[in-house]
Amino acid sequence: MTQSQNRKKGKCRFCGNSLTQTFVDLGMSPLCESYRSLEQLNQMEPFFPLHVYVCGECFLVQLEEFVPPEEIFTEYAYFSSYSDTWLAHAKSYVDLVTKRFGLSTGSFAIELASNDGYLLQYFVDKGIPVLGIEPAANVAAAAVSKGVPTLVKFFGVQTAKDLVANGQRADLIAANNVLAQVPDLNDFVGGMRILLNPGGVITVEFPHLMKLIQENQFDTIYHEHFSYFSFQTAERIFAAHGLVLFDVEEIPTHGGSLRIYGRRADDVTKPVCETVARLKEQETEYGLGHLDGYLSFAENVKETKRKLLEFLIQAKREGKRIAGYGAPGKGNTLLNYCGIRTDFLDFTVDRNPYKQGKFLPGTHIPIHSPELIRQERPDYVMILPWNFREEIVRQLYYIREWGGKFIVPIPEVTVIP
Ligand SMILES: [Zn+2]
Repeated sequence: MTQSQNRKKGKCRFCGNSLTQTFVDLGMSPLCESYRSLEQLNQMEPFFPLHVYVCGECFLVQLEEFVPPEEIFTEYAYFSSYSDTWLAHAKSYVDLVTKRFGLSTGSFAIELASNDGYLLQYFVDKGIPVLGIEPAANVAAAAVSKGVPTLVKFFGVQTAKDLVANGQRADLIAANNVLAQVPDLNDFVGGMRILLNPGGVITVEFPHLMKLIQENQFDTIYHEHFSYFSFQTAERIFAAHGLVLFDVEEIPTHGGSLRIYGRRADDVTKPVCETVARLKEQETEYGLGHLDGYLSFAENVKETKRKLLEFLIQAKREGKRIAGYGAPGKGNTLLNYCGIRTDFLDFTVDRNPYKQGKFLPGTHIPIHSPELIRQERPDYVMILPWNFREEIVRQLYYIREWGGKFIVPIPEVTVIP
């Protein structure tokens, strides 16, 4: 079984088993970051299936690959350093691993999908040598200008071999929020094993599938995210490449993520922590060790759609005006799947000037500056990036002046007065 065979349609991208079990089918959807301009509204718009499968063999939850990653990730609009929360998260991570694994000026840290150097810059501050690997040339250039050396490449076995041949091996490999976006998982994880020094450590962060199911976060599914992992499945994938996961932490990012710690199987200096057994037990209790544990999700998602539409229909019948807040990727999955267009949401607002004046993909809801909420005084504001709901409710406290209320659509429709 070669890696490229696992990229064949209808096969699990880890184990190659045929994919026959539906996890959830969200219908046809446009790419979530493909905001439309006014001129584009009268043109054809590409939609792709958002049909998620669960592998009956290894329980990897996954989408088929419809759009080549080269198209999505080579000119990426997302710069991590725009978010203060992310920077704080990155800095505390760097402090933590530097201390725990005794990294020093003689160590070498590599980040995969290093974006604009938002994380590696904190190692540079400590005098620890680094290398970023990032496929999007425009964000990589931003990293280099911060003093973070960056290689513009997709990572895999070949890139790892080239680096090792060049005398470069890592004491620390960090890969945050990239594993889900890797089309060829075996090539990526296999590359990490090659690049790692015998006593080195790999840390990987990804949204936790158990949280996605528990909290009904179906709107975090989009075409750019090919895979959704439980800890157990991640452990299996790493084991297949000679890597042992020796610790795991639950962290709050993206509605609930895992940070896993890996080492080479032959490195006996790092015993497996009890956190590993504890989390696996929790997942097993939740049913993730068995196919049945995955199959009830689809019905929960349908019921959420019915409830949300019920609420919106009722509100519109009462003559209420509803605006959206935010234009995040997750909002687009929700709105397209539920069929919510300007018949329900008059407009949405976003603080990012790049999105203002454009339209949401598929639903063509116009995106304005947040100022419009004050002018239009809608009865309801639906919060699309629900993971920031507290922050947004605080920012928009003034809608209470005219009796405005907030709607949070996930995990189920909730109204905040
Ligand atoms: Zn599989």
